[in-house]
Amino acid sequence: MVANDGTSAVRRTPVLEEVYSGAPSRLNDEAEKTYSRMLSNKTLAKTETRKTGLRLPPDTTLEDFQRAISDLQSKVGAEHVQVNDKPLDDGWYLDHPKTHDCHHIIDQEALVASAVVYPGSTADVQTIVRWANITGYPIYPISLGRNLGYGGAAPRVPGSIVIDLGRRMHKIIDIDADNASCVVEPGVTYFRLYEEIQKRGLPLWIDTPDLGGGSLLGNAIDRGVGYTPYGDHWANHCGMEVVLPNGELLRTGMGALPGPNGKDNPTWQSFQHAYGPSVDGIFSQSNFGIVVSMGFWLMPEVSNQSYCFTFPNEDDFEQIVDAIRPLAQQRILGNIPQLRHVVQELAVTGRRKSDFHSGSAPMTLKEIRAAASKLPLGDCSWVFYGTQYGPPEAIAQQLDVIKAAFSKIPGSRFFLPKDVPDDHYLHSRAKVCAGTPVLRELDWLNWMPNGGHLSFSPIAPTKGSDARIIHDIITKAYSRHGYDRFSTLCVAGREMHYIAEIVYDRGDPDAKLRAVKCMREMIAECAEYGFGEYRTHLLFQDQVARTYSWGDQALMRFNETLKDSLDPNGILAPGRNGIWPKKYRGKGWELGPEDIDMKVIGPKIK
Ligand code: ADP
Repeated sequence: MVANDGTSAVRRTPVLEEVYSGAPSRLNDEAEKTYSRMLSNKTLAKTETRKTGLRLPPDTTLEDFQRAISDLQSKVGAEHVQVNDKPLDDGWYLDHPKTHDCHHIIDQEALVASAVVYPGSTADVQTIVRWANITGYPIYPISLGRNLGYGGAAPRVPGSIVIDLGRRMHKIIDIDADNASCVVEPGVTYFRLYEEIQKRGLPLWIDTPDLGGGSLLGNAIDRGVGYTPYGDHWANHCGMEVVLPNGELLRTGMGALPGPNGKDNPTWQSFQHAYGPSVDGIFSQSNFGIVVSMGFWLMPEVSNQSYCFTFPNEDDFEQIVDAIRPLAQQRILGNIPQLRHVVQELAVTGRRKSDFHSGSAPMTLKEIRAAASKLPLGDCSWVFYGTQYGPPEAIAQQLDVIKAAFSKIPGSRFFLPKDVPDDHYLHSRAKVCAGTPVLRELDWLNWMPNGGHLSFSPIAPTKGSDARIIHDIITKAYSRHGYDRFSTLCVAGREMHYIAEIVYDRGDPDAKLRAVKCMREMIAECAEYGFGEYRTHLLFQDQVARTYSWGDQALMRFNETLKDSLDPNGILAPGRNGIWPKKYRGKGWELGPEDIDMKVIGPKIK
């Protein structure tokens, strides 16, 4: 069997010991179960033919494209460049495609690559970038391409050449146990780093997002988060090596100062800055460079205790958010806790919506609570998942303070992992919050047949009154467009990430259209209150970027100035994060609030 990334996978669920992007064998049973469940809930047939065939880069002919691809093959090896002219296969999380957005929210063939190239070294990446400057073709770097809900491996400009960095560049370059840090290439997953640390017996934690198959580097660049005290992945990176759009190489932070005898600088992973402007930031959520290696701080392992609280009423969330604020500001809460709507308790069991509800309308709150009352945490509206860290006595004291704060909300209840069955989500949460990567979060995709998800992720102040505004906007939009609420609030001391998932059937064009409408409206309505998204799917990046419009789009004009200066030929990920190079600007590539039915992405046919 040939896997979606072209490597030969012999099992149904790729295993880390055989494939760099697989899951560790300790998770075999879970992975097989998840895969079978996904298959049994799949009604979409595997496509046998492409409707539109090979999508070329803009403004080229087939002959020129073929000539340019042969040239690239001669430079990096014929077997390391694959033209994307075969039927598209959405695969699944552990065997995902690099050819398109597998959680497609418009037509499956709309956001596609013309070819995928697999560099084996930094020199290869430089070669590809120089080639792109000559051909003028857009290139689009990914590390693992598991950015699901935000566009996966897809490029913003259809027909771009995707650079799959991870497939051949997946070395753990260094783990420094004394400095508690590491340096990795783009293809190193959370699973991989975790297993390596275990193998070496080091007393270190990694910080993992909800799923462990992503790239440390790719996730940090897109400013993803995890759940230990080191959960802000960008804030905990230290030093990068970057290929610039002209093919030159740059080291950031202390790496800019050469170490003795040609070695790397000894403080590269100890201090984040160099001398002068801090430039690292311009390489995150941008299209200004291709990061080929990156350093990260690792957390020394520590004893910990996960727990959850339930709250009975739908309207309790304002009070909960206000209770969290001082606890978080005083750093009594050990990590960024999650406040999840109880509908997630149903979905994370891996059961289908149809098990709880007949028909396609959203579940009513009454139905949700009736179903939840049969689950281990019982009847409730919200569940708070937290973890405390430190010596046991310190944890006990912290928990006393937290319990005292939450007990002011009538009807709140406290649970430890020992209070719930072994298969309850709290156990999986406890693992993630102690740096052990898992797969459990895939279970809620089973809610719908052919389950895909689209993430709406605005930021608001940690205040009950703001939580009320944002929650109302989102729940009204969900019900206007016939979607179940799927809300998780990641609440820090001063701001909260409100993560609203839209879980939809990839085989239902009407559901997809409603999801797009829902997104466009939520973005616009939240912006009216000053709430902006921290991250978004490719198709919404123009709209989101342009809500940050203070000073007549001063921020965007600054980004465009940087883009035009660093990438005058406009070859690197045009349109990524809403930043378009001069060559593309004002030619109808930008997608705004009115773009709902995005049948084709591109200016000519629009
Ligand atoms: P993950 O699989 O960890 O979720 P991805 O590889 O999908 O991460 O990366 C997320 C996004 O970040 C990509 O779509 C791309 O825009 C950007 N990105 C990823 N890796 C790099 C890189 N090495 N250099 C520049 N941008 C990158």
